[in-house]
Amino acid sequence: MAATLIDGRAIAQQVRDQVAADVAAFTAETGVTPGLATLLVGDDPASAVYVANKRRACVAAGIADLHRHLPADVAQEQVVAHLQELNADPQVSGILLQLPVPAQLDATLLTGLIAPDKDVDGLTPISAGRLMQGAPGLRPCTPSGVIELLDRHDVPLEGAEAVVVGRSDLVGKPLIHLLLQRNATVTVCHSRTRDLAAVCARADVLVAAVGVPKLIGADAVKPGAAVIDVGINRTDDGLVGDVDFDAVREVAGLLTPVPGGVGPMTIALLLSNTLAAARLQRG
Ligand code: NDP
Repeated sequence: MAATLIDGRAIAQQVRDQVAADVAAFTAETGVTPGLATLLVGDDPASAVYVANKRRACVAAGIADLHRHLPADVAQEQVVAHLQELNADPQVSGILLQLPVPAQLDATLLTGLIAPDKDVDGLTPISAGRLMQGAPGLRPCTPSGVIELLDRHDVPLEGAEAVVVGRSDLVGKPLIHLLLQRNATVTVCHSRTRDLAAVCARADVLVAAVGVPKLIGADAVKPGAAVIDVGINRTDDGLVGDVDFDAVREVAGLLTPVPGGVGPMTIALLLSNTLAAARLQRG
């Protein structure tokens, strides 16, 4: 039987509607409108589109759009000054530095300057440490979106064999910790993993966050498994994921399409994090 497809667009819309309702209630109760400061440096067209989408989604959710656009040749000290100003500004609940930044800037240093309670991307070392220790804090959006998709489909995580392919700081590593917190038995694979398909085939929950088109074939999927495809790869055939969709669809129990799976969840979770950040700042 073909896998049930996970409709990421519909679930993301549900999350966004819930955030909008929660933002309205928060604002009515506290008089505070949560605000997201997106910081875009330069004119990379893809980044401009991503930031425009995030800003539109904020406005739709009742979150103030506090965007700043800096020229491509801006000096590091100036970006530092902007981040410090945003850190100190009580109207700013969340700060998002759109990556990548131009080569003269040190992305790791700049990201690390964001106040942890405003770190809506969840990428600062303090947010990463809080996640690893299970302490309250802001979690990275894409991995949180993966968990949300699994939860909305009632996929049991406790005691489940979960395999994550990919160990980036952005997706794979935070996801490992989110799954561990839910008491899954977690295995992580990467470019040096021997016999990837055999390891993946053990998984009740398989997440691919790699960036290699169709890396995960039907032989890597346990019948009935929940398969989440984070990959976004531009090919001659259009956008494809890391999972060989047509083949895996015949084996998996649940499967995300690309596009329309994990992608829409990232923005939804960004909105949710912005409200969470506004709450954190009120203690
Ligand atoms: P990175 O390039 O930072 O990490 C890729 C990971 O995949 C690395 O850990 C690498 O291993 C591993 N890897 C590479 N080749 C193989 C292979 N042949 N077998 C097993 N593992 C391999 O990517 P990101 O985590 O940033 O992104 C992954 C994918 O997810 C990309 O397609 C990206 O576009 C997409 N993405 C989608 C988002 C969304 O909103 N849907 C958000 C963010 C990313 P090693 O560490 O050994 O090098």
